[in-house]
Amino acid sequence: MASASPESEASISGNEIINISQADQTFLRDLENFPGGEALRLCYQCGVCISSCPVARYLSEYKPAQIVRMAVYGLKEKLFASRNIWLCSTCYACLERCPQGVKPADIIRSIANLAFREGIIHIAFKEAATNILTTGRMFEVPEIRKKKREKVGLPKLPEVNIDEVKKLLKSTGLEERLSNAKRVIGTSEEKVE
Ligand code: SF4
Ligand code: SF4
Repeated sequence: MASASPESEASISGNEIINISQADQTFLRDLENFPGGEALRLCYQCGVCISSCPVARYLSEYKPAQIVRMAVYGLKEKLFASRNIWLCSTCYACLERCPQGVKPADIIRSIANLAFREGIIHIAFKEAATNILTTGRMFEVPEIRKKKREKVGLPKLPEVNIDEVKKLLKSTGLEERLSNAKRVIGTSEEKVE
């Protein structure tokens, strides 16, 4: 098997060497054109975003700087295959603290959006979107919680006009996209067509 020339190799984290001839320049340009992607190439890998990130604190494999690095190298397929692009809690700590004005949170969200356009979604997002489509709420509020609200004198939760929600979402094509998803990350039957 032919090995990559040293000029086409780069390190994205620790000892992992990637072949930058895999770079997808269109993917990189798409990310730069999304809101928040303008400063993508200015990342100098200082790691401030990692040390600020609450998800990284609990999950060592989650590194916003590494996702940004992979985006700069246009490693679309590698990113789309990773569950990490779905784990950002959008707390925006990274965005507030980046000394270069890079916006890792926005970039990560854009990567997930592009993945969804290609039929890839994480199971948690699929379930949340399905709940919105069917009930108008991201999570079903359990009866016990509704009763607790009553008990402490809180007003009843407002009814959702599900017909209006459905009408609105129909225009986005969400239902169709969800049912056409070809890959659901985080399931045991995860498969790629
Ligand atoms: S804080 Fe900004 S410059 Fe530093 S690694 Fe993160 S994105 Fe890159
Ligand atoms: S916005 Fe996302 S990547 Fe940035 S610090 Fe918060 S959880 Fe981490």
